[in-house]
Amino acid sequence: MRKPPVICIVIPCYNEQEVLPVTSGLFTAELDELVGSGRADPASHVLLVNDGSRDRTWEIIEGLSEQDPRFRGMSLSRNRGHQNALLAGLMECRHSCDCAISIDCDGQDDISAMGEMVDAYLDGCDVVYGVRSSRETDTAFKRATAQGFYRLLGSMGVECVYNHADYRLMAKDALEALSRFGEVNLFLRGMVPLVGFKSTSVYYERHERMAGQSHYPLSKMVALAVDGITSLSVRPIRLIAWTGLVVALASLVAIVWVLVRHAMGATVTGWASTTAAVCFMGGVQMLSLGVIGEYVGKVYMETKRRPRWIISKRTWESRDDN
Ligand code: UDP
Ligand code: MG
Repeated sequence: MRKPPVICIVIPCYNEQEVLPVTSGLFTAELDELVGSGRADPASHVLLVNDGSRDRTWEIIEGLSEQDPRFRGMSLSRNRGHQNALLAGLMECRHSCDCAISIDCDGQDDISAMGEMVDAYLDGCDVVYGVRSSRETDTAFKRATAQGFYRLLGSMGVECVYNHADYRLMAKDALEALSRFGEVNLFLRGMVPLVGFKSTSVYYERHERMAGQSHYPLSKMVALAVDGITSLSVRPIRLIAWTGLVVALASLVAIVWVLVRHAMGATVTGWASTTAAVCFMGGVQMLSLGVIGEYVGKVYMETKRRPRWIISKRTWESRDDN
């Protein structure tokens, strides 16, 4: 059995002025509960990462950290998106905690599931995935698209835990290992299983957002799916190669047919089939170029090695070596 860990709850926040005052107290209440039951060290804290919000989110974070030193705030110099903000928080806190729990700030993920996550950590697990047991509060559309999303990822060779978003516990060792992944195209759900270590899942019900609005419309979900697949798998390029092979074999048959027709003196007919074949091949080639282009773009961004985030402010003194 491990000793009660210093926990850091890492929460990315983007334009969350409505929801933060409602949910912030729930996180410290959960810490009180964990410390009270002897499962967490009293030095446990909450790290709020302001992802370049344009509203009063940062002022609220500063206010919280003045009232209660368990709240720490750091601000990114501009909006970098959920995945970057979350990783910035995880990399920042790994020096000052034994394990980090990442969660969204809108109260959709059941905060009380942290108890079970910490129990699993105390039993020796280094990575604990929070998995949604039901999606009853989501619309039928969101449920269907989310299911399609996981299916597509799986079929493209991206290993990720079904119905797990970014609510998870990671022990210090796993965080250190994650810090060695230098890619700029981030898809944490697919990267964490690659980190390995002993892992398990805990199940919880997903609620409605407590206030404010979702920042993940369908367009961003599609972008996340494309990023997830192209940054973790080359299967789409391989599929293009296979498609090319199948089309080449099929066209061999067509060539034989054309020669036979020619020998029979019937070469004028067949305009429709020719046009259809040209259009079809044009479409396949454009699509294939697009997929390859997506990878070329990824390579381009990776070779630049730009910083994935820049921290502009902190509400506490910290080591700055990530
Ligand atoms: N978020 C962020 N940067 C962004 C978009 C979102 O840090 O550019 C945060 C947001 O504040 C929230 C979490 O990511 O804590 C998840 O976002 P949201 O609740 O809007 O997504 P949904 O739960 O609807 O998928
Ligand atoms: Mg949400």
